[in-house]
Amino acid sequence: MKGSSRAFTRLILGICVALSSAAQAPPSAPVPPKPADDESALRAFAAIQPIDVHVHVFKTNPAFQQMLARLNLKLLNILVMDDTLPYRKQLQPQIDDALALAQSSRGRIALCTTFDPYKVDGASFDADAIKQIDRDFGQGAVAVKIWKNIGMEIENAGGQYILADDPKFDPIYKDISNHGKTLMAHQAEPDVAWGPPDPSDPSWSYYQENPQWYVANRPGFPSKQSILEARDHVLANNPKLRMVGVHLGSMERDLDNIAQHLDKYPNFAIDTAARMDYLMLMPTEKVREFLIKYQDRVLYGTDLDLLPDASFPNVLKDWQSTYARDWRFLATAETQNVYGKPVRGLNLPQPVLQNLFRGNAIRWIPGL
Ligand SMILES: [Zn+2]
Repeated sequence: MKGSSRAFTRLILGICVALSSAAQAPPSAPVPPKPADDESALRAFAAIQPIDVHVHVFKTNPAFQQMLARLNLKLLNILVMDDTLPYRKQLQPQIDDALALAQSSRGRIALCTTFDPYKVDGASFDADAIKQIDRDFGQGAVAVKIWKNIGMEIENAGGQYILADDPKFDPIYKDISNHGKTLMAHQAEPDVAWGPPDPSDPSWSYYQENPQWYVANRPGFPSKQSILEARDHVLANNPKLRMVGVHLGSMERDLDNIAQHLDKYPNFAIDTAARMDYLMLMPTEKVREFLIKYQDRVLYGTDLDLLPDASFPNVLKDWQSTYARDWRFLATAETQNVYGKPVRGLNLPQPVLQNLFRGNAIRWIPGL
């Protein structure tokens, strides 16, 4: 979830575009073509009956519901336990609110529940978590989320960071796969969280706003590789568990690495949430080939949010411009400016778009 950093990124993009065109355009240069209007992109997006498998919605209003209906859009609303945010500290109120939201949405907002990993050292941790998850399944939850606080925040009694393959989580993974549900796994962060400051990285502004997740030069902190290896152990140990590695499986700069994971683990898929910029900045042909080759393994997600303090007209504009921008990149050959760089759309074939925007969500997250 990174709503404000997205707005910041957009501001920077705007500035970059303005600066680069001011610096480069001679007075006689032809006027660049007007960017296509969002409306036609959104009409095409709606026609595919899209599913966004990665959002965080805390409230609704009639205009939001109308937008979902107009876009033929279904959402997977993902819960997260985060002890640094007041509205994410408590689990049961989040579940209650999300179930009420799902009920009021006329089938447009599904629930991905979670469990409380901060209680991992408690004697009845597993039993309590499984009881609660099963109750949520019974009320319609279709998936379970684990978040980056496993690997990057929560320590065991011995002061060691708990990783995703800790045996304490095993019964929970077994329970999820026994129910035929899906694990949405956000493990680790973009490379830049471990690296030197890099304002050109699409995620850099997030770490300026959330320095608690910037872990470069922290002695004793797990490496990104060790966190992702723990995630991979979960895949290997639970071949019947479907796992969606959100945010491009946290391998956002390395399509070859993602491909190797998809080849090695048939129970693994990825979502695109909050990482579309990375795809846009890679060589177009390589991304296109990847998305065609792995067209059954990539789910469309955004990480858009509707936080308790969001103001409605603005937030709806933000949602729609994100969908229009993503659609233009994936489905058309139009050129957009990304970080001051012209980026040509991938113009993916219609069957690939069907999988990416809808079919894979249904197959990988049954119940959606
Ligand atoms: Zn998210």
